Amino acid sequence: AQALSATVNSRIVRVIIAGGLALLFVGALRQIRSLKRDNRRLYELATRDGLTELRSRGWFQVNYPRFVERANYPGHCLGLIMADINSFKAINDNHGHTAGDEVIRFVAKMLEAACRPGDATVRYGGEEFVLILPDAPIQVVERICRVAEETIRNTPVTLADSRTVQVTVSFGGISRPGPNLDGPKLLQWADDRLTRAKDLKGSGAPTIVADSRRQRAPGFGALPIDVATPDPDETG
Ligand code: GH3
Ligand code: MG
Ligand code: MG
Repeated sequence: AQALSATVNSRIVRVIIAGGLALLFVGALRQIRSLKRDNRRLYELATRDGLTELRSRGWFQVNYPRFVERANYPGHCLGLIMADINSFKAINDNHGHTAGDEVIRFVAKMLEAACRPGDATVRYGGEEFVLILPDAPIQVVERICRVAEETIRNTPVTLADSRTVQVTVSFGGISRPGPNLDGPKLLQWADDRLTRAKDLKGSGAPTIVADSRRQRAPGFGALPIDVATPDPDETG
């Protein structure tokens, strides 16, 4: 009888230990899952701009080289757009900094809306943005510039005090095929084109520069895009 009771007891002990271990295991799994969720949340917070929720400049610095790497094969290409709000300082001066913030948020939303899934929209500086467009030939770059430019120009922004402001944005767009893509150069060229778009804005002409000497979109007539000027500086 003693031997029987000892066997039963040791069985009970084993069941209790197994149950305890199972509980511990489930608890640990839950904790890992919740840690993963927290990590994801923290990553999103750390890599997004607080005002617009676009990707931050820090995110761009880490991830842009990855986009370049992925595009750096024959048959692939990378499109890049730099955009800058026109006369933004005047909006701040005339309507206040909070209104300026609203305008930045509005432009961010419109830029994101003009992009395709998988494109990255980055707040690069105060009122300056970069769009990374994987595998976008120049025609797609131009279309995204045009859609964004037109929607922003044609949509008055209603401020918190119910006044409205109208804003325009200048664009510099470029696309280059792999292999031998140079990320920093591509960025520099997009920036040069943005500068050219800004210069043209002064004469009341186009606000988008996205021309390529190698590829030209057909049916370009009505677009406010500078397609005539070659790019003498874009060598190498
Ligand atoms: P341009 O047409 O040549 O682009 O001129 P601009 O007035 O748009 O550009 P400028 O560089 O002269 O002024 C940009 C201003 O944007 C200066 C800065 O105070 C303001 N700014 C930068 N970041 C923010 C922000 O987060 N919120 C607000 N409200 N203003 C900002
Ligand atoms: Mg500006
Ligand atoms: Mg600027």
